[in-house]
Amino acid sequence: GGDRDSPYEEVVAPPHPSSPPSSHGRANATILMLARNSDTDSALRSVRELEDRFNHQFHYPWVFLNEEPFSDDFKKRISNVISGEVEFGQIPRDHWYQPEWIDETKAQAGRDKMVQDNIIYGGSVSYRNMCRFNSGFFFRHPLVQKYKWYWRVEPDVHFHCDIDEDPFVFMENNDKVYGFTITMYEYLATIPSLWTTVKQFITENPQFVAEGNAMGYMSDDGGNSYNLCHFWSNFEIANMDFWRSEAYMKYFDYLDSTGGFYYERWGDAPVHSIAAALFARKDQIHFFDQIGYEHNPYTHCPKGNGLWQQKHCSCNPERSFDYDGYSCMRQWDRIQ
Ligand code: GDP
Ligand code: MN
Repeated sequence: GGDRDSPYEEVVAPPHPSSPPSSHGRANATILMLARNSDTDSALRSVRELEDRFNHQFHYPWVFLNEEPFSDDFKKRISNVISGEVEFGQIPRDHWYQPEWIDETKAQAGRDKMVQDNIIYGGSVSYRNMCRFNSGFFFRHPLVQKYKWYWRVEPDVHFHCDIDEDPFVFMENNDKVYGFTITMYEYLATIPSLWTTVKQFITENPQFVAEGNAMGYMSDDGGNSYNLCHFWSNFEIANMDFWRSEAYMKYFDYLDSTGGFYYERWGDAPVHSIAAALFARKDQIHFFDQIGYEHNPYTHCPKGNGLWQQKHCSCNPERSFDYDGYSCMRQWDRIQ
């Protein structure tokens, strides 16, 4: 439970008091969802599926975050389908909204250009707030601070296979930092100056670049240019101590100080992915092949090793995104 005096925390008692308390062998982990009150129905569907496929066995606590207070309806209906503890938090204003020092005239011009060019979410300020929050702030929220591991879940996603091995414990035992299921190309128009900014950062801070990193997945020319490959961050299982590290905090502050989250439309997916690929070893990044996962319009469905049968997957392995022309699995495979 959290501090009930904080305006950012609200605690709802577990609906099933018989749920076992955190036991030996379980990780210090939470399942995390950022959502709006208008996402109630779609959030419920994701929660129900992950509970059915995974969490009814493990009872990891959920945390829901929103820049507005969650409605009573949201809290009541979500709590009704969760097998363990759940907390609902509000995001501090300065972790969400466009900072004062952003030149709004320049930001507006950037948005107008992206609308003309038909870039998805190109005109949206709230989408930019969300991407910046997911890049640099979620892991500092008072409700999230106490956890080391998180699994990011979004409304309206699908979990297609049984998850009977604990992925958090797997990550912990195997010294992993970041886990993904889908990797693809980013739209260059959303991040035109991101790679130049990253290169400046690593020139100034070479000590943060890990030996045995995954640069070869992200760059086809030894780091000169970015090939736009990133891990699709609507699914993430990762170690928040990595985001809280000096390397990542300095990297985030450096990126943020350029205003690129607002003047361009930098996504948390390339921001996280580039950091994982540079500041961790490649063997600390894990592809969760056995987790069948769908976020419209793409699905990862396990194909080899009999996993599809063994985990009772409901997805079509022939349609797995791994083999799509837009997938970056080839770049991932070539560095293994
Ligand atoms: P997409 O996956 O890139 O199309 O973006 P989504 O619309 O799915 O948003 C990503 C995540 O952020 C989801 O969990 C949304 O529920 C959440 N989200 C997006 N915008 C907002 C917002 O303005 N407020 C809140 N509270 N959540 C948001
Ligand atoms: Mn989404």
